[in-house]
Amino acid sequence: MGKLYFQEERATKEILSRVTNLCGECYDDINLGDVIHYDTQQYRYICDECEQTINTKTNEKVSLCEDTLF
Ligand SMILES: [Zn+2]
Repeated sequence: MGKLYFQEERATKEILSRVTNLCGECYDDINLGDVIHYDTQQYRYICDECEQTINTKTNEKVSLCEDTLF
């Protein structure tokens, strides 16, 4: 529940023209062949950088929760 899940993909011409050519988080341009991540919770594509930022934030939250347990 509430688990973030990102599916790694490569930006194809089809994604860029039919879905989006902007990162759903930072609105940076996505270029053909870029590593992108499909956010299965919010149904959007985000860039590699944002995926890492979000994952770091999530891990911080997890460790904060663990800290309060002890
Ligand atoms: Zn981004």
